[in-house]
Amino acid sequence: PALYGATRKNSQGINMNIQKSLTELENAYRPQLDRQWQAAPVINGQTLSGTAQEVRCPFDLNKRVGTAQFATAAQAAQALDGLSAAWPSWNATTIDARASVLERLADLLEKHRPELMALCTVEAGKSMQDGIDEVREAVDFCRYYAQQARLKLGREELKGPTGERNELFHEGRGIFVCVSPWNFPLAIYLGQISAALVAGNVVLAKPAEQTSLIAARALELMFEAGLPKDVIAFLPGDGATLGGVFCRDPRVAGVCFTGSTDTARIINRQLAEKDGMIATLIAETGGQNAMIVDSTALPEQVVKDAVGSAFTSAGQRCSALRVLYVQRDIADRVIDLLKGAMAELKIGPTHLRENDIGPVIDAEAREGLLAHINQLKGEGKLIAEASLRADLNGHFIAPVAFEIGGIHELKKEQFGPVLHVVRYDAGDLEKVVAAINATGYGLTLGIHSRNEETAARIEALARVGNLYVNRNQIGAVVGVQPFGGCGLSGTGPKAGGPSYLLRFVNERTTSVNT
Ligand code: NAP
Repeated sequence: PALYGATRKNSQGINMNIQKSLTELENAYRPQLDRQWQAAPVINGQTLSGTAQEVRCPFDLNKRVGTAQFATAAQAAQALDGLSAAWPSWNATTIDARASVLERLADLLEKHRPELMALCTVEAGKSMQDGIDEVREAVDFCRYYAQQARLKLGREELKGPTGERNELFHEGRGIFVCVSPWNFPLAIYLGQISAALVAGNVVLAKPAEQTSLIAARALELMFEAGLPKDVIAFLPGDGATLGGVFCRDPRVAGVCFTGSTDTARIINRQLAEKDGMIATLIAETGGQNAMIVDSTALPEQVVKDAVGSAFTSAGQRCSALRVLYVQRDIADRVIDLLKGAMAELKIGPTHLRENDIGPVIDAEAREGLLAHINQLKGEGKLIAEASLRADLNGHFIAPVAFEIGGIHELKKEQFGPVLHVVRYDAGDLEKVVAAINATGYGLTLGIHSRNEETAARIEALARVGNLYVNRNQIGAVVGVQPFGGCGLSGTGPKAGGPSYLLRFVNERTTSVNT
């Protein structure tokens, strides 16, 4: 509310309170950018040592951000022993008490917002605005799941024959492993953990290697919020090494995973083959997201939304636009405007508000994207490329747009600021939707059309999780646009939606002859 609940506008229509609070926030955020942070495995509240890795800032490779100690496979096994012992008492804790921990955590996240934003910037290369959004989403997840737990997980009496009392209730499944990606290092990490915990599970938290520091700081806040030390184990480190232990352990009841489709398949296979419990897998994975623009669309609005959807956060959002389908009649106009908009983009260190686009996460990501970019350049498909200053010392990639023949030409998700444009003919709308469906992914889809029938036709044909009409297609809001895909993009249920918590629980009934 301090940031968004403003009411007074100045003579240019700019909201004065927002301006003032943004400046205050920036003043609190800047000094945090030069701090050093630490991460290490934590089991039963005890900090252990592991293999030390130096963490460097993606937009300034000379800048040291801290040290992360990576956990060993033996520590993963030790963590599972501890969690196994802790589950019964956490599961017996009241829903109200568990939800209250999340609410206190939300308050603490707000209190430490400048520090957490700074960590998003220096560890994950996020802009100040991305940092604001990230912390707000983490807060929203905690409050929303606390509210949903109170609403949905209590005891419910079911109507039955006279002389009998029937009750439905829920309990945690046991040990849930939460495996998160680096691109939403606070929001997705805490979204998974808070849902699992409030539902009555104990959690083994495995953040992405690249963003262990922010995950470790959030763990400290969880303990400060009153989470018992034995109900969460924190294991930063290599996914394949640690996953090889927890995905095969008979005691693991479920894995909540967000990341690439390839990793989800590996986890799924290992869980299927393990002894013991038949484990639940919740997987939110990649996308090959398109936007379909027909000739009734407003080109200026299309370009604004396409540029925002494709290049915000350097294109490192699972929802980001990858393929812009434009009806041939207005394609030249849209491409001209796109070139103009891309020429305006400023690329550089993300703590400076004047820069629009920051770095990609690491050298490996940059090399993979450059291989794709150089291949399409070699094939003569370049439309436009933003300019990149020579003095930058980070993992920067200039946002780039290519014209290609169709989405089928893309063999995999390009997780960065690369937009592909395809022209299509007026009568080919169904074929366009069929080509998008044929990728097998189904995460986000944008539509730009002022013809409501066109939008309704696409909605009926498209197999996607989140559809956006006449707006950008990123930035889903918890509880408002529950997020998640289908097919190669994920198993559902949607994060930040009303069905999410139910996947983390066992449903039980008791029938009593009265
Ligand atoms: P990733 O390589 O699949 O990694 C995700 C997480 O899985 C990391 O913590 C990783 O650990 C871990 N991991 C890797 N191999 C593992 C294994 N064999 N067993 C268990 N865990 C393992 O994905 P990413 O590059 O971090 O993230 C980008 C991808 O996430 C994109 O495809 C994007 O579309 C997707 N994503 C989807 C959503 C959504 O809601 N649908 C949201 C955000 C991102 P390491 O750090 O050691 O690799």
